[in-house]
Amino acid sequence: EIIESGLKILPQGTKMRIGVLTSGGDSPGMNAAVRSIVRVAISRGCEAYAIFEGYKGLVNGGDMIKKFEWGDVRGYLAIGGTLIGTARCAAFRERKGRLSSAYNLIKNKINSLIVCGGDGSLTGANALREEWPGLLSELIEEGRITAEEAEPYKHLIIVGLVGSIDNDMSSTDITIGATTSLHRICEAVDSISSTALSHSRAFVIEVMGRHCGWLALMAAVSCGADFVFIPERPPTRDDWESDICEVLERHRRLGKRKTIVIVAEGAIDKNLKPIKSEYIKELLTNRMGLDTRVTTLGHTQRGGRPCTFDRNLATIQGVEAVEAVLRSTPDTPSPLIGVRQNKITCDPLMLAVEKTNKIAEAIAQKNFRLAMDLRDPEFTEDYQAYVTTTIVDNQLLVLPEQQRIRIGICHIGAPAGGMNPATRAAVRYALNRGHTPIAIYNGFAGLLQDNVRELSWFDVDGWASKGGSELGTNRIEPNIDIGMVAYQFQKHKIHGLLLIGGFEAYTSLLRLNEARKQYPAFCIPMICLPATISNNVPGTDFSLGSDTSLNAIVDSCDAIKQSASASRRRVFVVEVHGGQCGYLAVMSGLAVGATSAYIPEDGISLKTLQADVNHLIRRFGEDKKGSSSGRLILRNECVSKTYTTDVIASIFKSESCGLFDSRTSILGHVQQGGSPSPTDRIRATKLAVKCVKFLEEFTSPFESEKIVYPSIYTNVKESVAVIGIGGAQVKYTPAVDLLAETDIENRKSRKAWWIHLKGLVELLSKWGYADVQT
Ligand code: ATP
Repeated sequence: EIIESGLKILPQGTKMRIGVLTSGGDSPGMNAAVRSIVRVAISRGCEAYAIFEGYKGLVNGGDMIKKFEWGDVRGYLAIGGTLIGTARCAAFRERKGRLSSAYNLIKNKINSLIVCGGDGSLTGANALREEWPGLLSELIEEGRITAEEAEPYKHLIIVGLVGSIDNDMSSTDITIGATTSLHRICEAVDSISSTALSHSRAFVIEVMGRHCGWLALMAAVSCGADFVFIPERPPTRDDWESDICEVLERHRRLGKRKTIVIVAEGAIDKNLKPIKSEYIKELLTNRMGLDTRVTTLGHTQRGGRPCTFDRNLATIQGVEAVEAVLRSTPDTPSPLIGVRQNKITCDPLMLAVEKTNKIAEAIAQKNFRLAMDLRDPEFTEDYQAYVTTTIVDNQLLVLPEQQRIRIGICHIGAPAGGMNPATRAAVRYALNRGHTPIAIYNGFAGLLQDNVRELSWFDVDGWASKGGSELGTNRIEPNIDIGMVAYQFQKHKIHGLLLIGGFEAYTSLLRLNEARKQYPAFCIPMICLPATISNNVPGTDFSLGSDTSLNAIVDSCDAIKQSASASRRRVFVVEVHGGQCGYLAVMSGLAVGATSAYIPEDGISLKTLQADVNHLIRRFGEDKKGSSSGRLILRNECVSKTYTTDVIASIFKSESCGLFDSRTSILGHVQQGGSPSPTDRIRATKLAVKCVKFLEEFTSPFESEKIVYPSIYTNVKESVAVIGIGGAQVKYTPAVDLLAETDIENRKSRKAWWIHLKGLVELLSKWGYADVQT
């Protein structure tokens, strides 16, 4: 059906030939996009052509345009940069260069083009499409092509994908490569932090971003930097030097031994004068007497090996790009494939480019409010979250005394990346509001032992980058002794509860809600911030820790795949966590190019195994030289009691007809990851602030009077909620309302937004799979 819709604009029998090029600065994930485009195009009955060195290949033609087969993109997922090359091409900026490009496209019978690059590359792509009819006429007039030759190519289809580490494109929340770049920056800042701490030094770290402060701001949020300078939001005062020194001095007075300042390369003051790292260094040295160093991260930020998020984003957007090609008609404007809050989008390309250009214009006109607004809507929110969780003693935020509350914070379930950053953000924001954050150590068991203590601003210093759980966490739920839990709440005057954890955090919330009838101590607002690697908590698309875990799994799988490839003809059955939820297996399977992902949602049968054996026999049989023969099967730990990891590996080996060998790898607790990923740190910060706001909301009706304790002051169901990322926004869902979508027995949500991606894992690794099965 899709192929037919693509053929509508072409004479019958003409095949869709899709060209793909990468242009502008390289970014990690471009290869995953090329792989996905090539393979999806082939599986849809089209031909795929790689155009090497960006527009240079298009202008020069010849052997710079090459038909790609399925196997040509093998191994692409894990490699950074772009394997088909990129270049800045001056010739393409001229009409003459675009004329040659049109000629080369027609000579190669390419009727559609997918361009992955930044705003410049996409502007160029649009220029080519707009001029296309004129270019064709000129080529005919010059006698370079005949009218008959030109006839099938009357319309050129262009689709854009944004590959850019800066995340500077409007109309999309995130660009391909930006997250990996952020990973590298955070690794660098974390490393610098240890030396800064040892010597009690200050570091001014310069990161990329000429017009866009996304990398700088997100690095500051993720690493808990003391101050950040971004182009969209210059310091508000002329004497900003005094402001930064004041903030840094306050932090030092509280006990900080290290000072980290992050500066975007395009940082400016409110009069558009550049703020340079060296100048800040002189300032901190001379005015504060700090031993200050400058580190410019430079090209390490180009990223290298792509993180899981970029691989999957590029893969999924690549699929959508091919679909968009096949959907396009001569009248549809060229689309840009983007993403908004976990949904792939398809908007007019030029509108996005124009909106992006407006940001630079707004900055040039000193309209900084507009510049912030033109970024994605979360940018301002992230900036606020940064300021309110970092800069101590923010007088503007403090609530009147009668509205200040005591907030209990407790971790529950298995450790997950993001628990500590979330706690840090909640504590700091709460303190800035005048509340009292109270740590409940070792979960509900700790509460019963009175393991409870108030936390200060400095207590949580450095937690932004810490993995595991500093408070201590276990699976014990409040029903261990619900009466004593109520007593302890009462004793410590807990006015609001923040539970950070996995499925147990959710079920604990249900138990506390249920017990409200007997114990007024639970008639307080309570919120669960989902944090578990399994991503199985209802009410959210993503739980904290799941991104960290995916990166840990993918790191291990890359190493295993390398070993399997080196050993030749080897299949690894890799067992991953997730309980009864197949999220980790599917998403890491997509990111490593696994042959299959076996998950509880689908189960395994002999038929499945037989189909995979057939597929592997065929693949290893075709692969005569035995080159790059490592293959992975990802198996969720709970998928089957019969077909264990060992059993599957043995079946593969004995059914392999001697063509391949098999091994197992059980990843175990490595999957919890070390330091939380930047994505988890950012989500943790933003959501934790919102959790405190939620608790405030349910205590604010009492603003006129001081909260008297103990007394029932809220028992509406809305005051016991799970915070989550879903659809287009952060949402709070009453815990009891989530029961309808909860599979309590299997401890997971019945809604699995990611389940369709399992089909994509197979599509991208098993072209021709259907006929193998039959
Ligand atoms: P990055 O975000 O990494 O800078 P970019 O795509 O914006 O990526 P540019 O150097 O601006 O990088 O553009 C890449 C190429 O796209 C240019 O070398 C040129 O060939 C082409 N290009 C850019 N702008 C135009 C334009 N206005 N018209 C035609 N072609 C253009």
